[in-house]
Amino acid sequence: LSPVPSDLEISRAQTPKAVDVLAKEIGLLADEIEIYGKSKAKVRLSLLERLKDQADGKYVLVAGITPTPLGEGKSTVTVGLVQALTAHLNINSFACLRQPSQGPTFGVKGGAAGGGYAQVIPMEEFNLHLTGDIHAITAANNLLAAAIDTRILHENTQTDKALYNRLVPLVNGVREFSSIQLARLKKLGINKTDPSTLTEEEISKFARLNIDPSTITWQRVLDTNDRFLRKITIGQAPTEKGCSRQAQFDIAVASEIMAVLALTDSLTDMKERLGRMVVASDKNGQPVTADDLGVTGALTVLMKDAIKPNLMQTLEGTPVFVHAGPFANIAHGNSSVLADKIALKLVGEEGFVVTEAGFGADIGMEKFFNIKCRASGLVPNVVVLVATVRALKMHGGGPSVTAGVPLKKEYTEENIQLVADGCCNLQKQIQIAQLFGVPVVVALNVFKTDTRAEIDLVCELAKRAGAFDAVPCYHWAVGGKGSVDLARAVREAASQRSRFRFLYDLQLPIVEKIRTIAQAVYGAKDIELSPEAQSKIDRYTQQGFGNLPICMAKTHLSLSHQPDKKGVPRDFILPISDVRASIGAGFIYPLVGTMSTMPGLPTRPCFYDIDLDTETEQVKGLF
Ligand code: ADP
Repeated sequence: LSPVPSDLEISRAQTPKAVDVLAKEIGLLADEIEIYGKSKAKVRLSLLERLKDQADGKYVLVAGITPTPLGEGKSTVTVGLVQALTAHLNINSFACLRQPSQGPTFGVKGGAAGGGYAQVIPMEEFNLHLTGDIHAITAANNLLAAAIDTRILHENTQTDKALYNRLVPLVNGVREFSSIQLARLKKLGINKTDPSTLTEEEISKFARLNIDPSTITWQRVLDTNDRFLRKITIGQAPTEKGCSRQAQFDIAVASEIMAVLALTDSLTDMKERLGRMVVASDKNGQPVTADDLGVTGALTVLMKDAIKPNLMQTLEGTPVFVHAGPFANIAHGNSSVLADKIALKLVGEEGFVVTEAGFGADIGMEKFFNIKCRASGLVPNVVVLVATVRALKMHGGGPSVTAGVPLKKEYTEENIQLVADGCCNLQKQIQIAQLFGVPVVVALNVFKTDTRAEIDLVCELAKRAGAFDAVPCYHWAVGGKGSVDLARAVREAASQRSRFRFLYDLQLPIVEKIRTIAQAVYGAKDIELSPEAQSKIDRYTQQGFGNLPICMAKTHLSLSHQPDKKGVPRDFILPISDVRASIGAGFIYPLVGTMSTMPGLPTRPCFYDIDLDTETEQVKGLF
């Protein structure tokens, strides 16, 4: 249809096939799915065991150039590409997408189901709640937060003996340790299993975590852009007896538990990761974990369904997993290892799995390789780098692009010079992908205002910069058939030998790993650590966490730390303001500049347009 209707209208015009029909089509057994409504199902992990001898398909990552605040169409390209592969080239394929956060859906950027004729449907179910995974993450995270402060309160107000008696309850008149408590005793070097035999000193050692409140790094989370929670004071009621302290909320999708979900590969591994999460240090500088707080089992229970990937479908009826991790700027921003692993088995050796990393290749893709591929052991075959004429013009010096404000004429009329000048960003992002030794196909996501000359120029410059191929894509306007050239180019690139390598060695000191990313990927001259960042690095190194990969929290709007520096900024010093540690997820988490882990709302957020028709129960205004 021309003009192309809204994302929501297109989604609603197509009736999805029943999810059990889809599941059968892709080879799932009836007891391997758990159906939620008509068009979503969770997939059981037992599938991996059944298919363990099946060879994996080809593994394709969709990344992008530095985007405008509107997004350049990575999700749309991901969906368009699998539609083209499956429905038009007859190749089994699977898209693995990330579950959108309520923050952008009601804030600036809207949902993340793709768009136009390349979408996951029903898009309102995709964008709202899905099967509740983010709610489960929020619940688990905040249970742990409550456990920390409550434990401090109880240790402040009770004697060693009283604490011990409450922590180790009487069962039929006999005190018994739980399995988690037995593990803690072992960690403390107390090799006893009978509670009645502990000495006074051992009782005190066992009962008190002695958390140093000034070292608490575990924050409460919420999946709403609520800037007023960036700094709060908790414990102000008289009942909290002076345990008041400054704290903050982070957005739920940037939480460590979201990263654990994305990086785990089994229930057992998830439980171990949840237990290892470090929340603070004790007064002797030793790490305090979720295991020490006795909460690991409860967290695992809260997360037991969230670990199963969610099956949905594209507009053209091809399969999609939606699972875990948006926000590549303040999180690692990749969909789950489990979804990718299951999909790679389901498509078979000749098939393709297309997964997406958030924002520009400098952040989402860098973390995909250095964190996610390290965790999964999977080797990608191709990077698809999404570019738009619009974003390239912005990098070439075009006026700023703001959500909700009509685009200036530079973006709606031909301007070869701006495109040519802006291609430096595309070239740099191609070079970044090449650092990892994987062939790059540039997908130019065409908008209706782009001209032939502009499109040809981008493809020409991309190939000159070393891309394996560069092709214009029209899936947004016409669906999978508009991306057949891209699908062919990806198939061709996947037949090349991948020379995949990591960017840095884990044994390097934390500071050197940060410096390598800053210089080789962002193009910084050097890094500068705040005293806070330096002392955290010293603490984590001394606690034995120096050998983890790095997950930078950096703006997605520039290769540098300054969102207004477009193109390829040079000679900048990257400021590292703070460093956190996500030990369960398995990375060190430096914060660059003024990066906030709780976004805010703009003056006119998307929620102004979102409504429910109470007669028909139809959602309006989502995009
Ligand atoms: P990203 O994943 O890079 O953030 P999305 O795929 O979510 O970007 O696309 C962002 C928005 O832009 C969506 O609302 C989508 O409908 C719209 N969009 C994407 N590609 C096009 C296109 N070629 N023409 C018009 N609108 C597009």
